[in-house]
Amino acid sequence: MAKPLSVFGELVRNFFKKASTQGYPFKKASVDSNFRAQIKYDPALCVGCQLCVKNCPADAIKIIQINPEDKPQVGADGKVIPVHRKFECKIDLTRCIFCAQCVDSCFKKALSSSQDFELASTDRSSLVYIKKYQDASQDKADSEEKEQK
Ligand code: SF4
Ligand code: SF4
Repeated sequence: MAKPLSVFGELVRNFFKKASTQGYPFKKASVDSNFRAQIKYDPALCVGCQLCVKNCPADAIKIIQINPEDKPQVGADGKVIPVHRKFECKIDLTRCIFCAQCVDSCFKKALSSSQDFELASTDRSSLVYIKKYQDASQDKADSEEKEQK
């Protein structure tokens, strides 16, 4: 059992030491660069292979094709013009355990872990993250619109 005097010495030593904890939420918490928080999705890179969906242990991610009716067209030269399939991603944060298995499974690097961990909400519907496909031109228009504001 520790002697009272040695405990007092420890107390005094620690009183003058820099705090080991962070002042969160009063100060923004810094997290490690490998921290696994909200999963981000880049629809421009996704090929719809569904590997992330198959490997998710929590059944939290869906990849949805948004143009299933599009058929390949035949050009004037008789060559088939392949359809550029478009996908969107739905991640249910009420199920996700932030294991990042989907990130590891995605060979196209369309998924990544962000450091965005402040996800608490009183509204369950806001915990379903949907990244919709946008054409590159639409993305550009959106970013230009943001810059003008
Ligand atoms: S981080 Fe894990 S639980 Fe969350 S969507 Fe990816 S694989 Fe599923
Ligand atoms: S593993 Fe990657 S490329 Fe395949 S469906 Fe998932 S996000 Fe898209």
